[in-house]
Amino acid sequence: MEVNGTNHQKIVNIDDLDVGDQDLIRKAVEARNFAYCPYSNFAVGSALRTNTGEIFTGCNVENVAHSPGVCAERTAIVKAVSEGFTKFDAIAVVAYLENDFCTPCGVCRQALSEFASPDIKVFVAKPVAIRVLCTSVQELLPYRFSPDKLQKQL
Ligand SMILES: [Zn+2]
Repeated sequence: MEVNGTNHQKIVNIDDLDVGDQDLIRKAVEARNFAYCPYSNFAVGSALRTNTGEIFTGCNVENVAHSPGVCAERTAIVKAVSEGFTKFDAIAVVAYLENDFCTPCGVCRQALSEFASPDIKVFVAKPVAIRVLCTSVQELLPYRFSPDKLQKQL
């Protein structure tokens, strides 16, 4: 196991993860095949696991007008929430960048933080998942605006 020295995020071989986490990443790889991305040609897949074990997948869905487009992570979040699941314990995100991992965008980080504890497992991998970046919402969005901050204000 190697540790990225700059931010404590871990990069591991997929075989070192739990079988359930490996399966989550594989489901994100499969979901990527459904990406609708004719404008960017940048396909992203995600798989979100609830705290009771259900898995919801998502892909990016672009639009010619760009703004209506939605990321793979938020697709999965909306699918889960719309079916009554609002507690998540892990998400896998899969896309291909030659020399880097494709971490969730800022909007998706905030969207995740609405429903997940800061230590939710976030796995970031490539379509041929060999090495996996293991991180969390806490690491990705340390100063997030969270529902508990609003409740303290009210
Ligand atoms: Zn996003």
